[in-house]
Amino acid sequence: MVDELTRRGLLVGGAVLFITGCSRTARTSAGATAQPTFPPYAGSLRTPAVEGLWYRVAAGDTLASISRRSGVEVGEIARANGLTDAALKPGTPLWLPGATTIAATAGVEDPEDAAPPARARRPGTYELVERSGWTDNPVRKNNYRMNGVKRITIHHTGEHPGLEGIPEIEVLRRIERYHQNERKWAAIGYHYLVGKSGTVYEGRPAKYQGAHVSGANEHNLGISVVGDFMRKLPNPEQLAALDAFLTDTRERFSVPKSRVFGHRELGKSDCCGDALFRWIQTYRA
Ligand SMILES: [Zn+2]
Repeated sequence: MVDELTRRGLLVGGAVLFITGCSRTARTSAGATAQPTFPPYAGSLRTPAVEGLWYRVAAGDTLASISRRSGVEVGEIARANGLTDAALKPGTPLWLPGATTIAATAGVEDPEDAAPPARARRPGTYELVERSGWTDNPVRKNNYRMNGVKRITIHHTGEHPGLEGIPEIEVLRRIERYHQNERKWAAIGYHYLVGKSGTVYEGRPAKYQGAHVSGANEHNLGISVVGDFMRKLPNPEQLAALDAFLTDTRERFSVPKSRVFGHRELGKSDCCGDALFRWIQTYRA
């Protein structure tokens, strides 16, 4: 039910590879044109339903040592981050579900390494995780300047049976891996993704064109909602987050409701699904 470019699933080496994406970046570059500076998000951030902390892996860390310091069981940490073995790469952000503090250790030389990355926790309606909260991969040089945001396009990522139960940030990392390594895009194609938990994740920075609507990426901010919304709407928490984030984003970039589109209106695709597209029509009305 989802178009070819929206998602595909492949079995590679016995592991399910999640494949998603809507289009390639338009080849219009503005060269050295000065970029507008975007105002920061005004607020509307909510405390997540599930408590926890982000921790950036430092050299010498093991799951066991992080477990001792945070009080979160090894299995819980592994499950929340999609870890399949105990080898931890320094610098990797780890989500520690349920953690409220992370005890310092004498072995940490640089306090920056031990400090959890910034995570928005102000009360409001949605939680925003910055790009640095889930990936360390830089945006590659084959990017194009956005030159201002004039419209917003909504997508869905589609669904793959093999992804059930995989932690959300691991799903994002797989999408990113596919977009960067297979499609050879500069970064994940979408500017923002709304997870099933209601958490909003920054994808590709908004100063760059995304890769989400073929031939129409300039001035076009792409928001993708995680899941398949052909027959059903996102869950209530996810939909509320989309609603609040969309409104906040429209205010941030001065985009009227009439300039919010479903992918299918701009390109040959059934994205973002019948159910979610009906919701967009209602939102616009
Ligand atoms: Zn799409």
